[in-house]
Amino acid sequence: MKDFEYCAPSSLREAVALKAEKGPDARVLAGGTDLIVQLRGKRFAPDRVIDIKNVPEANELSFGPRRGLVIGAGVACWRIYNDAEIVARYPGLVDSASIIGGIQIQGRATFGGNLCNASPSADTIPSLITHSATCNIAGPDGKRSLSVEDFCTAPGQNALAPGEILVSLQIPNPKKNTGAHYQRFIPRNEMDIAVVGVSSHVVLANRGKEFKAARIALAAVGPTPIFARAAGDGLVGKAVSDEAIAEAAAAAQSAATPISDMRGPADFRTHLVGVLVKRTLEGAIARAKGKFVANAVQEAAG
Ligand SMILES: Cc1cc2nc3c(=O)[nH]c(=O)nc-3n(C[C@H](O)[C@H](O)[C@H](O)COP(=O)(O)OP(=O)(O)OC[C@H]3O[C@@H](n4cnc5c(N)ncnc54)[C@H](O)[C@@H]3O)c2cc1C
Repeated sequence: MKDFEYCAPSSLREAVALKAEKGPDARVLAGGTDLIVQLRGKRFAPDRVIDIKNVPEANELSFGPRRGLVIGAGVACWRIYNDAEIVARYPGLVDSASIIGGIQIQGRATFGGNLCNASPSADTIPSLITHSATCNIAGPDGKRSLSVEDFCTAPGQNALAPGEILVSLQIPNPKKNTGAHYQRFIPRNEMDIAVVGVSSHVVLANRGKEFKAARIALAAVGPTPIFARAAGDGLVGKAVSDEAIAEAAAAAQSAATPISDMRGPADFRTHLVGVLVKRTLEGAIARAKGKFVANAVQEAAG
């Protein structure tokens, strides 16, 4: 590993100045669970590493009716699933937080790092997309925001300019009768990368009998996480039924562009998209109706 300058700024202004000065020769460190591996493997050889854990905006984890949920880019997964209000209001996001790596990884890994790393198989990105999350970004020219669905541009590439950093993620306040669910398929129980991941998010109307809104997003079946917009839109106004769910699953399969690799052939992945869309829609519908669907941490606790 090449020697680098380690900086731990205590303000956002300082963090942005440090990043802007070096551009692509500086890397931001959140939890470090991807970055340290990448530095050791010489994928990146930055001159400077900027640890954002002392930046107040990156540590924010708050919920309010106006701003919704704000997850600072330095907030580790354990803080998300240990917060009773977030578990109650955003169980679909908690599915992702509780599934990443194992408990040690969850002690460091952040949603922001998972997103900036821009892996097609990342477990938080489909959930952030279906929850209509927005990225709050800061750079030398000021602040801007961007939808998560527009953030990943290619495997390992994102829409940040060289001098910019991700500050936080903002997720709207859930509407009434909303439910969301994330599931992935991996060949063993934990510590593996998704062969396919799916997040479904629904808003129900007419006492739970009809879809008022739906969003579906996919992991590991394309060069970036995929927002299967047509699959969700096709549910709007339809009765909640097995037929409607099967149609959405087929539409999501059409949006997937999987490759064959050591984790599985493309046709197997397409098949899994159909299975997981069905399961996650059923889980999201159950949650929208107030039923309990356990996340990975709750399952492990029995
Ligand atoms: C054993 C193990 C198991 C894992 N299991 C999973 C899994 O099940 N599912 C999964 O999705 N991932 C998994 N991962 C990958 C990793 O843990 C996640 O991607 C994690 O969420 C990354 O977050 P982090 O805070 O550690 O990111 P970091 O390593 O700190 O950063 C990741 C990348 O994003 C950049 N970055 C970070 N924050 C910012 C920012 N605010 N602004 C700009 N750039 C930034 C960094 O420079 C780096 O390139 C695993 C990793 C390990 C080592």
